[in-house]
Amino acid sequence: MNLVLMGPPGAGKGTQGEILSKRLGIDTISTGVMLRTAIKEQTDVGKMAEKYINDGKLVPDDVIVKIVKERLEKPDCAKGFILDGFPRTTAQAEALTESGVKIDKVLSLEVDDEKIVERLSSRRECRECGAPYNVISNKPQTEGKCDKCGGDLIQRADDNPDTIKNRLNVYHEQTEPIKAYYEKQGLLVTAKGEEELSDTTKNVAAALGLEV
Ligand code: ADP
Ligand code: ZN
Repeated sequence: MNLVLMGPPGAGKGTQGEILSKRLGIDTISTGVMLRTAIKEQTDVGKMAEKYINDGKLVPDDVIVKIVKERLEKPDCAKGFILDGFPRTTAQAEALTESGVKIDKVLSLEVDDEKIVERLSSRRECRECGAPYNVISNKPQTEGKCDKCGGDLIQRADDNPDTIKNRLNVYHEQTEPIKAYYEKQGLLVTAKGEEELSDTTKNVAAALGLEV
């Protein structure tokens, strides 16, 4: 299954992506994680992307398209993949189509704007492996530590109220139109992002036609 996960920042794409990844035995490719790793390592891409990300803006299409294409060419993607955070503009969606990569389904996680701000302020992620947590709804076993690798849990630099507002605007203006693009191709399914993580997981399974 070649799957695209869509939804506003904080909708739960990272968390659901991880659950689906285990269930389906395929990797999640998160452009957000890739870019934050590049920033941490201060690569050329990282240095360039940092300013955009901290302002809540999108990194230029050509940069991100190149990164994703290179990733999708790796052999592990042949058995399927989950794209989280890409495509985020119509130009990116068109570039993906033109690259010849076949997408089987596009799942849009739907969450209201008011909920997003609240959620993002309680969001944390692993400094080492990028795994997502939430201090209210998705706590780690040991406070402040990653269940998977023991790394410290930190708050992302772009999870502050001003940047969150920008990211929501960008989502509605630039990313949401992609839903129509994929709906026309008959690929779009939607699932409601709920308060309870397990409820969202059920909605996602139902939307994808997996056993709930
Ligand atoms: P969220 O979905 O919570 O906003 P992500 O981790 O997916 O977070 O992305 C964080 C930031 O990385 C975005 O606000 C944007 O600046 C940049 N980014 C990630 N994916 C893309 C993309 N496909 N195109 C452009 N910028 C991107
Ligand atoms: Zn970790």
